[in-house]
Order: sequence, then C-alpha cells, then structure tokens
Amino acid sequence: MHEMGICDGILSASLDAAAKENATRVNSIDVTIGDLTEIQGEALQFAFGVLTKDTIAENAVLNITTVSALSRCADCAAEFSHGRFDAKCPECGSYMCELLQGRELRVDAIDID
Ligand SMILES: [Zn+2]
Repeated sequence: MHEMGICDGILSASLDAAAKENATRVNSIDVTIGDLTEIQGEALQFAFGVLTKDTIAENAVLNITTVSALSRCADCAAEFSHGRFDAKCPECGSYMCELLQGRELRVDAIDID
C-alpha cells in the first residue's frame, strides 16, 4: 500500500524530531496533503494506527489537511482549482497551465510532551 510507505516517512521524521526534544509522548501530528498525491486520508489513518504501535506516538492523533489542485493559466493568468485529470483553463480553454498547489506532502506541526 502506497500510504504505508508515505506514513512511515512522516512518522520517522516526527519521531526523530520528538527524540531531539527528549519527548516522551507524541500527542498529534498535523500534515498537509495535496489532492494530486493520490494519498487516501482513510488509508493514511489506517497506516498511522499500524505504524505507531509500540512507539511514543502510539495514541497520537493524525490531523490531515487536504488541499485541492490549483493551477495558473500560462495564456491568460487565470487561477483555478481542478481535479486530477482536468487541468484546463476555464477562462480561455488553454492546457498550458502551471500547477501552483496540489502536490504537497508535508508535516506542519508536531505536538509532543
Ligand atoms: Zn486561460
């Protein structure tokens, strides 16, 4: 499962950060995920539950913020959000669009004790 590897990355980065602060517990981890990463929130939550077992993040809450894909048209500079496969300018119909957001995968905050 795609999400298992992603979650492993998020979790090890968070546990590293927690270890540096001499934390004994991770309370929550906030992540932002772009729509185009094709990460399923539910699958990520499941992976998180499995991977945090027997770690200091065992009962931590994973807060997921998803951002939809947003592009800017190279022809008319319109900015528009869109789905995974339809990055077409709604103003002028151009496909020459630059992706502004939608591929995010980052840890925003970690709450530790
Ligand atoms: Zn356009």
